[in-house]
Amino acid sequence: MTPELSVVVPVFNEEAVLPELYRQLVPVLDEAAARWELVLVNDGSRDGSLAIMQSLRDEDERVTLINLSRNFGHQLAITAGMEHALGDAVVVMDADLQDPPEVILEMVARWREGFDVVYGVRSEREAETLFKRFTAAAFYRVLNALTPVQIPLDTGDFRLMSRRALDALSRMPERARFVRGMVAWLGFRQTGITFKRRARFAGRTKYPVSKMVGFAADSLISFSTVPLRIASTLGFVMSVGALGYFGYAASMKIMYGHTAPGWASLIAVIVLLGSAQLLCLGIIGEYVGRIYEEVKARPLFVVERLEQGAHE
Ligand code: UDP
Ligand code: MG
Repeated sequence: MTPELSVVVPVFNEEAVLPELYRQLVPVLDEAAARWELVLVNDGSRDGSLAIMQSLRDEDERVTLINLSRNFGHQLAITAGMEHALGDAVVVMDADLQDPPEVILEMVARWREGFDVVYGVRSEREAETLFKRFTAAAFYRVLNALTPVQIPLDTGDFRLMSRRALDALSRMPERARFVRGMVAWLGFRQTGITFKRRARFAGRTKYPVSKMVGFAADSLISFSTVPLRIASTLGFVMSVGALGYFGYAASMKIMYGHTAPGWASLIAVIVLLGSAQLLCLGIIGEYVGRIYEEVKARPLFVVERLEQGAHE
């Protein structure tokens, strides 16, 4: 028998929160569904997380353990979990209890009303730095301005998906996985639930600024070709400017018979053109590199060991 509800949790060095997560999840899941499974995805943790997950698995039949062969990153870890989840509805949540488990009850209720995607909207972000809040807000606004898909503001990866939405998602084979954008692209009946995002229960964030920048660039490039258009627009504007300047220089010569002493303007034009070309090449390179990654068509992740839960 398959479970009615699956909860997927990506885990990377979360030994400090795992027991508490399990303790808080079980009563919620018991209330939410008759048959449920907890899919724990170990994303190459280097601490005691795997041992804790293994003992949860050994004690509770409803726990599925997926051990990835190394650290593949948050987005691929949740992809692995969603791919192996068996439920009619699948919830994805972080291990750190920033997403309150009780919200799952509300999500399940909306799903039973007929929604295919129920995403969590963060109304407040307790104890997150001003910097993180500001950059996150700016990121979503820029992304929505540049992409045709409207990604709901202030959402993360805490969401419930119906079986058919999940099946549709798993038919998107791309490597650059910006899951929340892909889900927005899917369509179906979607709705949001606002909740207060809490502080991490324990442990530290796995998203330092460098990773956040990489994630933002990846999401933008995988969801939009607007940067490429910036390159061609820039080329167009510059050639109009160049033509104008050429006209000016020619008319000065014709009307007054002299040309401006040119060293400074020449250097300025050369440097400007050179840097604009490099910028455009760089933008194109970002896309070419990603095409290369996609074309290789490697598997998204490698499972070292899978212990599927049992459901009577
Ligand atoms: N995570 C993961 N692989 C990674 C980084 C993070 O599976 O390479 C997991 C992590 O264990 C947590 C979730 O992804 O369950 C979100 O990470 P985190 O809480 O550090 O991100 P933040 O909430 O600070 O954005
Ligand atoms: Mg977190």
